[in-house]
Amino acid sequence: MTTLPAKLQAVLARIAAAARQFGRKPEEVRLLAVSKTRSTDCIRAVAAAGQLAFGENHVQEGVAKARELSALTLDWHFIGSLQANKTRLVAENFAWVHSLDRLSIAERLSAQRPASLPPLSVCLQVNVSGEASKGGVAPGAATPLAQAIAALPRLRLRGLMTIPRPSKDFLEQRHAFRRLRELAEQMQATGLQFDTLSMGMSDDLEAAVAEGATLVRVGTAIFGERTTA
Ligand SMILES: *Cc1c(COP(=O)(O)O)cnc(C)c1O
Repeated sequence: MTTLPAKLQAVLARIAAAARQFGRKPEEVRLLAVSKTRSTDCIRAVAAAGQLAFGENHVQEGVAKARELSALTLDWHFIGSLQANKTRLVAENFAWVHSLDRLSIAERLSAQRPASLPPLSVCLQVNVSGEASKGGVAPGAATPLAQAIAALPRLRLRGLMTIPRPSKDFLEQRHAFRRLRELAEQMQATGLQFDTLSMGMSDDLEAAVAEGATLVRVGTAIFGERTTA
């Protein structure tokens, strides 16, 4: 069995190889280790190998892990759908939210972010594939929402995130990620400032790196297959 540190190194090597292949620097692409459903022992093993940013998609599960592992000074990223009644726990326990797609949730997070913490880093989730079942704003609604979020005092707009329709075809994968990059460029041309494209997972990170991802969110390739969602 391959150990967790070895799998982490293999993912970092994939990121670096894709960056070089597509004319980018490996250090331009950060790795978020998606630890949803994984035990804190698994997280400890990956953290001991140098990985400090972890992603969770359920509030209670993520908060419990963050509290248990608080001595490790990890960065916790929330990547799941967020209900209004859970925003306080997220504002108090996470460093990032990748899945913001509503102003009402953003306003709550800003109001509830403790003064003792730096502003909460947020990405706007964009539904580039137009799938009804997926969260995220439509590309056409992203700019006004981002402008409203950028004006909130305790949030820091970091960029855009997407989860495209899964595809095995590299060019199709690239096409979806390119749409997010082009949208980001259009938004930046209106004066919005941000530095993050959160896109790419275990099966499509190379395509995301090719299209400008600055942060890839990887679970399965580090921790193995999940037995639950
Ligand atoms: C689970 C999840 C990932 C990681 O997916 P893998 O295929 O396991 O790498 C990335 N992003 C989000 C939003 C997720 O929910």
